Amino acid sequence: MKNRIKAINSTFAVLLLRKTRIVVCLLLVAMVLGVSSYAAIEVKKYAVHDMERKNPPVINPARRFGQAPSDAIVLFDGTDLVEWESDKGGEAKWKIIDDYMEVPKKAGGIHTEKVFGNCQLHIEWRTPKGLDPKITGQKRSNSGVSFMDKYEVQVLDSYTDDNYKTNRTYADGQAAAIYGQNPPMVNACRKAGKWQSYDISFLRPLFDESGQCIRKARITVIHNGVVVHNNLDIEGTTSHKRKASYKPHGKGRIRLQDHGNPMCFRNIWIRKLPEQPYLIKD
Ligand code: MG
Repeated sequence: MKNRIKAINSTFAVLLLRKTRIVVCLLLVAMVLGVSSYAAIEVKKYAVHDMERKNPPVINPARRFGQAPSDAIVLFDGTDLVEWESDKGGEAKWKIIDDYMEVPKKAGGIHTEKVFGNCQLHIEWRTPKGLDPKITGQKRSNSGVSFMDKYEVQVLDSYTDDNYKTNRTYADGQAAAIYGQNPPMVNACRKAGKWQSYDISFLRPLFDESGQCIRKARITVIHNGVVVHNNLDIEGTTSHKRKASYKPHGKGRIRLQDHGNPMCFRNIWIRKLPEQPYLIKD
């Protein structure tokens, strides 16, 4: 009997040892993963005024405000559409007139050939003048600028001189809104027929190994020189009449929407931005 108890005890001890080893291994793996993901966002410490700290790269700003600085990728300067492709496949077929491009009927949206993550984008847009005042809401010169194929800043004729009595749409769908999520803080629209600008700083979302969003995308939008979103969290992929949510993805293209309205765009450039605090590889 004693021998039997001894045998059971030793089997139990072996099992316990094996289980302990497995648990220890799992803990080690978890620790390594934890440490590596922490290390990726660890900020290198410097003393105040540390001369060992590198100075940032030197670039040349443009001679005129609104023009591309030396480290920008020029996406459209009125010359050609080589940086763009049609959403329908093949070359972008938007019409170039003078220094701008216009959406021809049924041409479909266009997107950049290159993909981007964190970036700064400058774009100028114009909605057509003389549109019938009976055309209102989302039908009033709808377009949009999307980041990573997914996150749309709305373009629309949202100009009003009567506090929205004659030209109103849902607030999270007016010009400069993060479509379906957040209206701009103020309506800084110019009249239809006038050129308008967006200067946008975009921070991509981050996902962990299991696909969970661990940092939402963030956006700052300056409309005609006015901050209308200030480091705002984006709630997920743009969608219509549905609550936005995240699905993991890599880098994506900049997209200009064709919503069936004759829109115009000009002077488009983009700068790739590093991760803050500049240690996560983009
Ligand atoms: Mg739109």
